[in-house]
Amino acid sequence: MADTFPLSPDCSRFKKEIDCLMEAVIERNPGETEFHQAVHEVADTLLPFIDAHKKYKDALILERMTEPDRIIIFRVTWLDDDGNYRFNRAWRVQFNNAIGPYKGGMRFHPSVNQSILKFLGFEQVFKNSLTGLPMGGAKGGANFDPKGKSEHEVMRFCQSLMIELHRHIGEDVDVPAGDIGVGEREISFLFGMYKRLQNHFTGTLTGKGLSFGGSLVRKEATGYGAAYFLENMLRHADEGLKGKTAVVSGSGNVSLYCIQKLIQDGAKVVAASDSGGTVYDKDGIDEEKFEFLRALKEVRRGRIHEYAERFGCEFREGESPWSIPCDLAVPCATQNELDLAAAKELVKNGVMAVAEGANMPCTTEAVHFLQKKDVLFGPGKAANAGGVTVSGLEQSQNSLRVSWSREEVDRRLQDIMQDIHCQCVEYGERKGKPVDYRKGANIAGFVRVAEAMLAYGAV
Ligand code: NDP
Repeated sequence: MADTFPLSPDCSRFKKEIDCLMEAVIERNPGETEFHQAVHEVADTLLPFIDAHKKYKDALILERMTEPDRIIIFRVTWLDDDGNYRFNRAWRVQFNNAIGPYKGGMRFHPSVNQSILKFLGFEQVFKNSLTGLPMGGAKGGANFDPKGKSEHEVMRFCQSLMIELHRHIGEDVDVPAGDIGVGEREISFLFGMYKRLQNHFTGTLTGKGLSFGGSLVRKEATGYGAAYFLENMLRHADEGLKGKTAVVSGSGNVSLYCIQKLIQDGAKVVAASDSGGTVYDKDGIDEEKFEFLRALKEVRRGRIHEYAERFGCEFREGESPWSIPCDLAVPCATQNELDLAAAKELVKNGVMAVAEGANMPCTTEAVHFLQKKDVLFGPGKAANAGGVTVSGLEQSQNSLRVSWSREEVDRRLQDIMQDIHCQCVEYGERKGKPVDYRKGANIAGFVRVAEAMLAYGAV
């Protein structure tokens, strides 16, 4: 077996079953290490549960869930501003539609490959199930780097990508959204082309602009949702956000709005980052500094060191924020950005809770260490489900031809994040120990999909 991952204490007696499952997954998906990691993370907490529920075991539900329904791979050819031909590879991984049409973001980043999209699609199945909304799981993207491209180049790329993608998606089939490198600008280019090709105005993409079917609070939803989930975890442990020091990684869509909500709810956020490094603002990011950061990243598409220059605080080039003392850590940038060494540093500095704003930002070793040290750990499937939640609400508004107010959407988001927290507690509560949110999220997300798959029989 190429990859080896540690097992949680609860799962050590299932080592043989996990090894067997992982061997088959690795054999079918050679070299896809991120995907192996995501499957292992789920198996590590699910196998004892499945063992106790023979119906899931006999129908090979988990094994079948590790195989995507289909993967569409295609070339995207486009012209750059100098008239040169360029091409990239794009994918849509339609993972599982047992409980609703496929749903999941599109990622544009040079690191994108099939393994990363499969790990994201697999996670999305569980996450979407947790929201209680009728959404299956999918993910897509391209190894295209929007950084440094002109507006027209990004537009031409999006339009060319949609010329292929449009025949595989639809409001009742598959509803893509944003992710790394895909924000409102890209969704608008994609949707404009989709609408033109289909001659249909439907809610087939989410994250749209407000004037053409977008939902209020969608932009803020993942970050706000992560802050709400963190707040729920703290409240359950008789704690709160007020007065806590937080570090957040990244400064993109998820990070920005997580920072904003944490500040609004009384925490002091002292760090943010991008792939160039970390800013450490000991005084905390206040509302005015936040507005500067938001304009820097959303409007000017600038680099985070400009924040340090503007406010005279420390910039740690090439570093992540995990060595900065904090009570709360919220990784919101990318997968595997917080490793065992970083987890040890956080624990040494007294971290109380870690909530994953990004997808799988903590390595397996880091998660096990944090849980061993009784740090409250909110896995991405639960903690960052706010984005897809409001995407689901955007779909509902589009179908009903209505637009809910900001307050209405935010209230529904808060209710669903609270419900996800409750589901995690239901399946993850432990005597004398913090809730095992990882186990809770995996089991709760699994059950709904598994019941639907059982009902369908062998299809
Ligand atoms: P953005 O593109 O808006 O922002 C990503 C941020 O992370 C940027 O600050 C970027 O810095 C940084 N980053 C990306 N890759 C790396 C890297 N390899 N090393 C260091 N920093 C990096 O993406 P989002 O905020 O939308 O997504 C962030 C995470 O949240 C992803 O894991 C995504 O899957 C997850 N997520 C997003 C949702 C959404 O609604 N957008 C929903 C649920 C999860 P730089 O600009 O320098 O590259």
